[in-house]
Amino acid sequence: MKKRIIIGLLGVCMLLITACSSTKSVDVNILATTDLHGLLPYELTSYIKDEKSKNTILVDAGDFYDWGKQGSAWNKCLDLKWSTDEYDSSYLEVPIAKDMKAVGYDAVVLGNHEFIKSNKFQLDNMVSDFKKQDIDVLSANTYKKNGENYVKPYVIKNISTPEGDVKLGILGLTIQEVGQKYDTLKNGDIKAKSEGLRDFEGYDGTLYMGDLVENAKKWVKVMKKDKPDIIVAVVHSGENTKETKYPGNNIQELAQEVDGIDAIVAGHTHKEFEQHNYKNKSGEKVIVTQPGKYGECISKINFKFEKNNNKFNVIDKSIKIAKFEKSEEDKNFEKLLDQFFNFCYKDKNSNKAPKEINLSDFTPFDWDKAYAFDTHTSPEKIYKTICYKWQDIKKTESEDMVQIIFMKNNKVVCNLYGYEFYFNSYFEFNKSEYKDSTITIYPKKNDRFKINIDKLWCILHLKHI
Ligand SMILES: [Zn+2]
Repeated sequence: MKKRIIIGLLGVCMLLITACSSTKSVDVNILATTDLHGLLPYELTSYIKDEKSKNTILVDAGDFYDWGKQGSAWNKCLDLKWSTDEYDSSYLEVPIAKDMKAVGYDAVVLGNHEFIKSNKFQLDNMVSDFKKQDIDVLSANTYKKNGENYVKPYVIKNISTPEGDVKLGILGLTIQEVGQKYDTLKNGDIKAKSEGLRDFEGYDGTLYMGDLVENAKKWVKVMKKDKPDIIVAVVHSGENTKETKYPGNNIQELAQEVDGIDAIVAGHTHKEFEQHNYKNKSGEKVIVTQPGKYGECISKINFKFEKNNNKFNVIDKSIKIAKFEKSEEDKNFEKLLDQFFNFCYKDKNSNKAPKEINLSDFTPFDWDKAYAFDTHTSPEKIYKTICYKWQDIKKTESEDMVQIIFMKNNKVVCNLYGYEFYFNSYFEFNKSEYKDSTITIYPKKNDRFKINIDKLWCILHLKHI
């Protein structure tokens, strides 16, 4: 009996000792996207809004700069850059930096598209636009002719937790094969081969890209001097060379050959996977994720730390992917744009095209009421008109933009918003029709439009009658 009491007391003491000496674990999260190609879907941005807090960092692994949603400001910007020589050497603000700041991005890594879609002058401007927004632009293996890094190779972020700041090192790397060129073989076949940055048109040999794995080895060593608690490599490159014809996709080699990296975000190949585990040369676990493309999903890398002797030790790490469904409203928007495009192309060269239509016969979805808003109508006014807060409505900034919101049973079913030129359609309303900046349209009641097709540009003109 006495023995049992002693053992019992010993147990209580052990528990007390453990409770006193144990430290609380803390979490740090890294949210990562890649290959957005100009798309920041509402579902993605609202997820980020909910998830982003003091202990969370948001990064992108490159190829963010592209055509984007049809009718968007990104469309207009790229179009201006490509269609006139003026912006080859004069500044044009790119809307991406502001848009990504608004979503909450902390750092972005240069992908091959950032180089492809610009010349050197335009790329410099884009990088400076990001700097103005206080977003770090990273790529450890992009060098200037003189051997200096073109942008920051890495950044160390202090992430606040209840136990103190965790030091997170973010290393940025870019696939060495930036472009593609085509050779015609003797038998007439066309063979694609990769093109390095050194030979790239519009860059005049001012930049070159170093080997991704070798540069990771070099820069992890440099980063270690800053004593980060963890290092995450955010890399615009695919996981495996064997899956693609390009040798630059070498995340696997990076994970296995370079010591000191805790987790890797992959990109470029548009693949989606939650977590693949590798072991580096020291036998440490390296976790890898790739968050697909177009903002259809996002990876959340979670690190759990325990603080001992003033040092944060990783006690667990794992990755989850959140996927987003495209909304019915967005699908209807795409269907409507296809309808405009097909109508123009089908009837461009025939005289059979109708001269007038009812909009309700034309739209590929049902609606019972539509609101056409005048230029500069505020989102607050729009929300008041449609009677609830739907997504993230923006106002039209100029006369070449349109905003028509289609409703069914008092719910939005489509928001036709953006620069009309990229919709292959122009809507024309008489200014006197607007009542309090709004024209209310009902099917078969007042939805008749006169039609004209601009055959040269393949653009449909719809005039409200
Ligand atoms: Zn890419």
